Amino acid sequence: MGRVYNFSAGPAVLPEAVLKEAAEEILDYNGSGMSVMEMSHRSKFFEDIIESAEKDLRELMNIPDHYKVLFLQGGASQQFAMIPMNLMKNKKADFIVTGQWAKKAYQEAAKFGEAVKIATSEDKTFSYIPDCSDLPVSEDADYVYICENNTIYGTKFKTLPNTKGKDLVADISSCILSEPIDVTKYGLIFAGVQKNVGPAGMVIVIIREDLISEDLEKCVPTMLQYKTHHDAKSLYNTPPAYNIYICGKVFKWVKKLGGLKAMQKINREKAQVLYDFLDRSSLFQGTVRKEDRSLMNVPFVTGSDELDAKFVKESKAAGFENLKGHRTVGGMRASIYNAMPKEGVEALVRFMEKFEKENPLS
Ligand SMILES: *Cc1c(COP(=O)(O)O)cnc(C)c1O
Repeated sequence: MGRVYNFSAGPAVLPEAVLKEAAEEILDYNGSGMSVMEMSHRSKFFEDIIESAEKDLRELMNIPDHYKVLFLQGGASQQFAMIPMNLMKNKKADFIVTGQWAKKAYQEAAKFGEAVKIATSEDKTFSYIPDCSDLPVSEDADYVYICENNTIYGTKFKTLPNTKGKDLVADISSCILSEPIDVTKYGLIFAGVQKNVGPAGMVIVIIREDLISEDLEKCVPTMLQYKTHHDAKSLYNTPPAYNIYICGKVFKWVKKLGGLKAMQKINREKAQVLYDFLDRSSLFQGTVRKEDRSLMNVPFVTGSDELDAKFVKESKAAGFENLKGHRTVGGMRASIYNAMPKEGVEALVRFMEKFEKENPLS
């Protein structure tokens, strides 16, 4: 069987060129006579892998020197605890809750200090991004937290919140490398890599140097201190070596395509194909307020649970995988990350057109 069009929200499609290269190197990486999975993380081979991964990521995202890049384990979810453990000095942080992931981060932070919900879009099933131009930011908040692209609901912050001088912390798991961002607008950004970069289990943390604190409470585990990983250049313990290797290949793939500006252009064109169809379809509708639509995750419904289920079933049989919406919201969702080719989205739209003709509204 050949490859399907995989619209999974994560773990998600990876560039075919990267998978092929990794396959070629699986038995013998670069003349080492072994796989990257089998080699010492202290070897010269791996040193080159991790150093060029960081260098390429810095170049792609234009990361200034006073921001540090860490490759850590525990996925994005571990950051929900690690951030408050390391950044909550006043024991207070503000949260803009725009979906399940932001909510989880908010609930986790409440274990370590006062977590204040200063805005939410829960009243309308997280289908929009609240106005964040003048929020009641706490005077003594250590940071303001957002989830920039809401993977489950398909919304995206198009402008960053006005944090009134507080550091902004952002979960960019499902939009990292999808378009250029200005790293200096944030205190800390992090991304679980299995959406747009690599295999699950790893998280990239980009943190402004002065937020890496030595002066933490004694109970903060060594492995959960940014300082530990910064001082050891992400090699305090055995890192997720194979993940770092694959991520490094994806960075090179994005560079070859022309970097984040080029990626943004491709992603806009790709998403447009699907959104244009949703806007003219009489059967399918997008579920998100137009101005807040994500370029990466596109939820849609027919308005009938029965037809939704039929669509998911038939689309799967036609080679379109993982279009079922998140279990908490139902409907459908097409995740169209960097590695989803435009042809995949065009083929999906043709299939949706056909489905619409075959299932006329009575
Ligand atoms: C998937 C996802 C997570 C959780 O990632 P894990 O690596 O499974 O912990 C967190 N935040 C966002 C925005 C996500 O899309």
